[in-house]
Amino acid sequence: MKAVRIHAHGGVDQLHYEDAPEPRITSAKDVIVKLEAAALNHIDIWVRMGATAMKIPMPHILGADGAGVVVDAGSEVKSVRAGDKVCLYSFTGCGECEFCRSDRDFMCIKVKSLGERLDGTYAEYVKVVPENCFPIPSYMTFDEAAAFPLVFLTVWRMLVTNAQLQPGESLLIIGIGGGVAGAALQVAKQIGARVIVTSGSDEKLERAKSLGADHGINHRQKNFAAEVQVLTDNRGVDVVLDSVAGEVWQKSLLSLAQGGRLVTCGATAGAEPNNDLDIMISKELKIYGSTLGSRDDFCELLRFLNLVQIHPIIDQKFPLKEAAAAQQRMEDGLQFGKILLQYAV
Ligand SMILES: [Zn+2]
Repeated sequence: MKAVRIHAHGGVDQLHYEDAPEPRITSAKDVIVKLEAAALNHIDIWVRMGATAMKIPMPHILGADGAGVVVDAGSEVKSVRAGDKVCLYSFTGCGECEFCRSDRDFMCIKVKSLGERLDGTYAEYVKVVPENCFPIPSYMTFDEAAAFPLVFLTVWRMLVTNAQLQPGESLLIIGIGGGVAGAALQVAKQIGARVIVTSGSDEKLERAKSLGADHGINHRQKNFAAEVQVLTDNRGVDVVLDSVAGEVWQKSLLSLAQGGRLVTCGATAGAEPNNDLDIMISKELKIYGSTLGSRDDFCELLRFLNLVQIHPIIDQKFPLKEAAAAQQRMEDGLQFGKILLQYAV
């Protein structure tokens, strides 16, 4: 089969479009999926660069998100069969620790995920376990089904499971443009929240407004923490989603109302933010770190999506062999929504 593999860590020039062995059934619980689409995530870039401090067998196929059709399944597989259209939950734990026993494989210290410790979705076929195959929401295309799992799962855990965002509450999203921020906007609007977004690009702010954002703040032109006070009659917002951190973090804390919640799933501007303990204590703030989500979160998310029918935001689609250009677009931060890879030759 054709795949995009890395043979060593480094820049986008390490992405090689080449022939690779097709995955085969080697256990009674294996499932082989022929992929129709894959989506990029920042984790792909970190794995490529070797920034995850994880030993990865080389050559290695990147890619955590994908959707396709089951083409083969081991003899003990009952939940899916050849011909089923599936989207993928990426994580498999050790099956024995306290987290795996309570269906929180993603928190297992031995977790294996597609594109990290396991060969991923930048390929025509991928091998997965049956419990990680889920029916594609009935209204979605393969492209959309590849685009949503990781970002919407992350957003669901942050906003719903952890922050418990309520109808009528206000949410501030720092840095609209990336997959997580865009998905958060869409989910929050369906929940019935008021959403304020920030960006350094007026174009991205306009696009966010066309997707339902109530207010956009250009953080290059205005101090967003001060602007949030203006927009909320000096109350602040109930929830901030800040996966930028760095110098932005303190402004995020300042933007929160009394009892507000801050959720984060990353720190693109630096992971050692200047925490202002005075604000955290006096305002009784809660901070939730999130990373991905459980199969339960994923099942809840699928029910929600089937009901409200959100279409994930697709930025651009590249042929598989142009994975390097696709990753470069993401590294340069040019995208709005998800970047996809397609397999048609
Ligand atoms: Zn485990």
